[in-house]
Amino acid sequence: MATTAIAVGTMKAAQVSNPGADFQIVEREIPKPGAGHVRIKVQACGVCHSDVLTKEGLWPGIQYPRIPGHEVSGIIDEVGAGVSDWEKGQRVGVGWHGGHDGTCRECRRGDFNNCRNLQIPGISYDGGYQEYMVAPAEALVAMPDTLNDAEAAPLLCAGITTYNSLRHSGALPGDLVAVQGIGGLGHLGIQFAQKFGYEVAAIGRGSENSALAKKLGASV
Ligand SMILES: [Zn+2]
Ligand SMILES: [Zn+2]
Repeated sequence: MATTAIAVGTMKAAQVSNPGADFQIVEREIPKPGAGHVRIKVQACGVCHSDVLTKEGLWPGIQYPRIPGHEVSGIIDEVGAGVSDWEKGQRVGVGWHGGHDGTCRECRRGDFNNCRNLQIPGISYDGGYQEYMVAPAEALVAMPDTLNDAEAAPLLCAGITTYNSLRHSGALPGDLVAVQGIGGLGHLGIQFAQKFGYEVAAIGRGSENSALAKKLGASV
């Protein structure tokens, strides 16, 4: 099946039925995008520790069953009414920012990530642990052809978190930057920091992490 074909019928999804329940692989009807939304054929979805919020019911107000996943890369395969900036076949990503209202004080200041009615994929609506996902158009980012799906997916949350932390830290090239914890975020943080021109000190446990940290660009 071509990746841009219109989807009909059912799909597989990994859902959490109740707080604390195991993941369940279920067949679901392929969702249709409403006005202002697009449907994405999911190509890859990263596993973020924050998915535990949905898995264990730690975020207030989650409605179950819920499908987690907020590190999504995929291809738009249907566009809802009123969406003019995106088209079928475009490669896109969706991260923690899964939609905003555009009207609250934070939005009017351009601070969409702190929208009072912020939507989060996998928490406010079903996320990327499924074959097709529906997302509001304002949640999408365009994905360049040079990025492969599996490598791009974790950049949508872990990557943005570390990249923006460094970008807004005030550190200048040549400054010493410490990255604590060489895991899902830290291994990206080291690489961004090294590319920004910092001297990178990696702090973690064990000799395996030490070898990895140095390979990724840490000098200490
Ligand atoms: Zn995340
Ligand atoms: Zn808002």
